[in-house]
Amino acid sequence: MGLNYIDIHTHSHYRRKGVTVVQNVFPGQDDQLDNGNYFSVGLHPWNVNKHSMDKDIDWVKAHAAERNIIAIGEIGLDKSIDCPWEDQQTAFERQLSVAAEVNKPVILHCVRAYSEMLAYRKQSEHKSPWIFHWFNADIRIAEELIRKNCFLSFGHMLFKEGSKAFKAFRSVPVEHLFFETDDAGYSINEIYEQAALLRNMDMNELKKHILGNFKKCFSLE
Ligand SMILES: [Zn+2]
Repeated sequence: MGLNYIDIHTHSHYRRKGVTVVQNVFPGQDDQLDNGNYFSVGLHPWNVNKHSMDKDIDWVKAHAAERNIIAIGEIGLDKSIDCPWEDQQTAFERQLSVAAEVNKPVILHCVRAYSEMLAYRKQSEHKSPWIFHWFNADIRIAEELIRKNCFLSFGHMLFKEGSKAFKAFRSVPVEHLFFETDDAGYSINEIYEQAALLRNMDMNELKKHILGNFKKCFSLE
């Protein structure tokens, strides 16, 4: 029996033998929450709307404590979109409090807002791990996040040689890594294979580390 791959972030409701999936579910997608998968639930910054925010965050709160919901996310900050910054911050802060209440990690969406995230990480009452999905910044930022008990998740950017993610990847300690498909066209096997190649690592060794990270991050046994 081989070790499972871990797909830490996807939006599709897929099941495959040999893969442990953490599916991201948005407020209102109750039909997606069955018992077979692990899930993260959260209001994505792209979907933040002043008028529906209360209702959406109430939905997140209502589900946050469920056993198969292992993280709050993806939540975060994004400077590339039109949604007002204040509203993004409000939604983010409120969901960090939800995560703190249930004592679960968060999965983060962060675009051009790493310094703000670091500031939040330093002051937040939420001390469980933070997982930066689609990490795409330089190694200096990676190192700062790692010092603050964060994990960095890599996916299709490992195939884009010029990207910040690609350049930083080899220097990120394996104890702080996750991998994800995020519905970007590569299977989780392909992403692990590329990662093993780039780090010159044995595949089984890599799988063992990531499985260990998964158990540690989510306090699973
Ligand atoms: Zn996503």
